[in-house]
Amino acid sequence: MNEEVHFLTDYVGAISGRQFVRKGVNKLMKENVKCIFVIGGIGNMVNSTARDILELYAMQEWEWESDQYQFPEIPNTIDENTIVFVYGWFGLWNDDLCSVDDAKTVCKNLLQILKKTLNVKIIIGMREDLYTKYKNELEDYSPLFDHKMIIDVENLSDECLNYFDEQTQYCIIPGCRCQELTHDMLKGGGDEMIGLLLKVKVISKHHYSDVIDSYIKDNDILKAMKVHFTALEKNENPIYEWLMYICLKGHFSRTESFDKDLVNKMKFGIKLSSFDEHYVHLRRYIRVSVLDPQNFSMEDTRYVFWDPFIYICAFHHLYEKDRSKIMNHCNVDAILQLVRPTSLENNTRSSYIEVFADDEDVELFRKRFRELELDLRNKYKEHPLVNDAPSTEIEQ
Ligand SMILES: [Zn+2]
Repeated sequence: MNEEVHFLTDYVGAISGRQFVRKGVNKLMKENVKCIFVIGGIGNMVNSTARDILELYAMQEWEWESDQYQFPEIPNTIDENTIVFVYGWFGLWNDDLCSVDDAKTVCKNLLQILKKTLNVKIIIGMREDLYTKYKNELEDYSPLFDHKMIIDVENLSDECLNYFDEQTQYCIIPGCRCQELTHDMLKGGGDEMIGLLLKVKVISKHHYSDVIDSYIKDNDILKAMKVHFTALEKNENPIYEWLMYICLKGHFSRTESFDKDLVNKMKFGIKLSSFDEHYVHLRRYIRVSVLDPQNFSMEDTRYVFWDPFIYICAFHHLYEKDRSKIMNHCNVDAILQLVRPTSLENNTRSSYIEVFADDEDVELFRKRFRELELDLRNKYKEHPLVNDAPSTEIEQ
């Protein structure tokens, strides 16, 4: 990753990082603690803090390996002397509403692993609102959730805002209005679901006049990033198209076939050979996600947005631009996690990051849903996007 961005990531990450990481490692070092449960709101850096705990623990415990698994993919057995981190519970970007059974299976397997394996440690990372929602369903697996670590960065907000002030104080971008962006704007606004830490990180990484002007006007980080993607389409079209390709597919990987059909349907001009991860402007938006860190190879590298929230912003942008493009071409997982029928449009906290589809758009998705494999159709048959469809349509 580009050095400047890496520095910013590390610095802002370090604000929450230092004290929580140390606390987490100390907890795991205790002989009787085999699993810790890290939770917090969106933007409190739950996953990055948990990853730091994972790495620091593996560094301190000589000859221990570390592993990461994206829910619900976890193996039945884990080698001795391994610490594992399980993330993405109920959906990588948001709750897919139909994964409680998966969660129970994963919990059951994790308890089995703890029973069978002598030297193993587990870190579970989960969004706090989702834990609250499914707490009763997960009651039977309570040993996994006993050692809770809540990442509450409220009391770190001063440090975070000071960091922001340092950034703006030395800003040399001509005409940049970042100094007009006040602490009250960052703390208030319609984006209260998103933690202050993430907001500061987003504005630091994407320190562009369109983002800053929009934030000053509306105090809404999701809106500001949507404005930014719109500007990007005009000003840096190849990057924009690659980012939208990643949004539609969920990730980019050179080992998977390049979806020319999708590129044509979206009227994009990108070619496989034009993907350049060394290009600084592209790297500002993405990070490497390694599926199997033990057998790391460049070919297996996946590129994803640097934070799930940036994915959500890109998704919102594309959805606002052309809802049918999302419903027809976007990966089904993202639709199940982020799109709800308008009948569910209300003021629950997560409705800030969800988008709403009218009957026409829902029908576009149902057509695709009917072509999915039977086990997926069964798993999601109660999903609000499909559950009131006539049963014959789903069964066929
Ligand atoms: Zn500035």
